[in-house]
Amino acid sequence: MAKRRISKKEQERIKQIIELLDEYYEGHEETFLDHENPLQLLVATILSAQCTDERVNQVTKKLFQRYKTAQDYASADIKELERYIYSTGFYRNKAKNIIGAANMLVAEFDGQVPSDIESLIKLPGVGRKTANVIRGNIYKIPSIVVDTHVKRISNRLGFTKSSDPEKIEFELMELIPEDYWIEYNHKIIAHGRNICTARGPKCSKCFMSHLCPYYKKSLK
Ligand code: SF4
Repeated sequence: MAKRRISKKEQERIKQIIELLDEYYEGHEETFLDHENPLQLLVATILSAQCTDERVNQVTKKLFQRYKTAQDYASADIKELERYIYSTGFYRNKAKNIIGAANMLVAEFDGQVPSDIESLIKLPGVGRKTANVIRGNIYKIPSIVVDTHVKRISNRLGFTKSSDPEKIEFELMELIPEDYWIEYNHKIIAHGRNICTARGPKCSKCFMSHLCPYYKKSLK
């Protein structure tokens, strides 16, 4: 694929956006999902599909006491696991995926969570988003996570015109400096929760409205 040409002006705009995100969201450098090891983050991320991080954190408090290793999940009684994760929604599918992923971890990865994307996306219930959460947060490998906030705000900021998460991921990789890929996600999530909400973004309170094409268009 041909590399996108980025004008000096656009590079400067991106630099200013990053500086402002850093200034306003200092301290937002971690995922909101509580975890103490790679397996816990993997399970929490699977549970976070169509569910708030707050709810996932409530559920995992008890779940992580009951199941500690990949083998624990692999040999779990599915009905019992479903009861633990019921309130995160889509619990049948999530339970099936957690058990499936755990079985694969035991069979192919010695019970450990791998770090390479090809292995991660082979696990049931794990797509590029979850794989990149693991890579960035656990292994500190530069990765861009395209979740609902990143998708929406990257479009509003004019970084992409796509709705396809994989396409957005690759477009952002061209625009955002590699050493900012992990943080971009955390800071954009903070912005999406506080100001650039899905409905009725608070553009008049936004510190980067002067750099935002969505806002400029709304003034016309
Ligand atoms: S100006 Fe509005 S649309 Fe643009 S980033 Fe800020 S809140 Fe979002």
